[in-house]
Amino acid sequence: MTSFDDLGLSQKVLGAVADAGYSTPTPIQEGAIPHALLRRDICGIAQTGTGKTASFVLPMLTLLEKGRARARMPRTLILEPTRELAAQVAENFEKYGKNHKLNIALLIGGVSFDEQDRKLERGADVLICTPGRLLDHAERGKLLMTGVEILVIDEADRMLDMGFIPDIERIAKMIPFTRQTLFFSATMPPEIQKLADNFLQNPVRVEVAPPSSTAKTVTQRLVASGSKDYDKRARLRDLIRAQDELKNGIIFCNRKKSVADLFRSLERHGFDVGALHGDMDQRSRTTMLANFKDNRIKLLVASDVAARGLDIPDVSHVFNFDVPIHAEDYVHRIGRTGRAGRSGSAFTLVTKADSKYLDAIEKLISQKIEWLDGDLTTVVASSDDADESKGRGRDRDRRGKGRRQAAETTSTTETSNGKKAENVKQARNTENTTESAARNSRPRPANDDHRTRRGRNRDNDDGPTPVGFGDDIPAFMLVAAKA
Ligand code: AMP
Repeated sequence: MTSFDDLGLSQKVLGAVADAGYSTPTPIQEGAIPHALLRRDICGIAQTGTGKTASFVLPMLTLLEKGRARARMPRTLILEPTRELAAQVAENFEKYGKNHKLNIALLIGGVSFDEQDRKLERGADVLICTPGRLLDHAERGKLLMTGVEILVIDEADRMLDMGFIPDIERIAKMIPFTRQTLFFSATMPPEIQKLADNFLQNPVRVEVAPPSSTAKTVTQRLVASGSKDYDKRARLRDLIRAQDELKNGIIFCNRKKSVADLFRSLERHGFDVGALHGDMDQRSRTTMLANFKDNRIKLLVASDVAARGLDIPDVSHVFNFDVPIHAEDYVHRIGRTGRAGRSGSAFTLVTKADSKYLDAIEKLISQKIEWLDGDLTTVVASSDDADESKGRGRDRDRRGKGRRQAAETTSTTETSNGKKAENVKQARNTENTTESAARNSRPRPANDDHRTRRGRNRDNDDGPTPVGFGDDIPAFMLVAAKA
């Protein structure tokens, strides 16, 4: 078996690796490190959780031992799609670089420029950045990238999803052509392959753990639900309450707006819950994540982008409030549980509109996922099945009924805790939110691709911007007009 000593890493790095308690390199480390040390370009196909970060940080540290940083001229540059990932890579540099005296600058959005400027002024050996913030610094003339020897492009498929590729192309043009490039992606669809061909020169390809597999130790179940948000929320609450073995769990939503709404709803219903989404400032996100890691919060509602790549230790449960639109996201989400041979449970709420996405997931993972207690034919026809166009009066009635049902469910479930009055009140509060959500769930224009607009996207890492008032419609506009 290969050991870390066989990879060609420096003594300082080996010391830090031993202190981290790692005995053997992971496959991506074994495959990438020796080539990276020989200054070869790398095309690494690996997802988070495979030890991917150390596979580029360790050789970079070894290579950086020669030479020194100069003011405003960084020697290495790492691009990450989200602030959390960037912060995590910085932590890795601190951990593995504890025997080095390197200056690291973390250039991410959502925090002030001043301190970042000071770090650049002092001279940074390593820049860890989100693309938008890096370009902001470069455009302000605060940064010269002609000294960059190593460029890392991490999570390339996510960069593509988020519309960051034009930014990365611009950045790559500011860096000498003779650089070494280490390129990582969890998946390798043709567009990503094309990018890799553009950015890399004669790369060594290292591929580990195909992204289409879910751990055998995870019990996966589909849970049929009505389509309205309040149906799904009630179903989710029942599901969570039914879990005897729930230690901690992540609840995934497809949009950041749903994350915020679901979080507020669960909180009102008395769950021990936090949220992670792209609109939160950096400090709140970091605090939230720390609270979850330290078991101060049991449930975390998150979007894919906000949660992607986060180094969260094994969770017992994953709940998909929405069926993910990209099948690979299902694999990533499920990968949060059942790590290192431990058992885990993953539940996915499925509505009638989700069949197409569900088919794609089952095809990707080459397996049929079992239904928990009956498939979609068991879902009692609810408001979502009725034709919206059948008249506003009837529509209002139906919503009223749905809301009353939601309130009843809540009050009966919680009566045993002696909280009936309080919970009916809570349910009523939820009604207001669900009503505004229902009224505003208009389809967005198909071409509303926020990701192509760099300015808007720089500090924003998921979900389209709401149209008009979004779900935050003022209450006075929700009062029914008198005939
Ligand atoms: P990553 O894929 O970089 O997010 O790493 C996932 C986790 O694996 C992190 O918690 C690392 O600290 C850990 N890790 C990285 N390399 C090794 C190794 N060789 N042995 C054990 N754990 C590792």
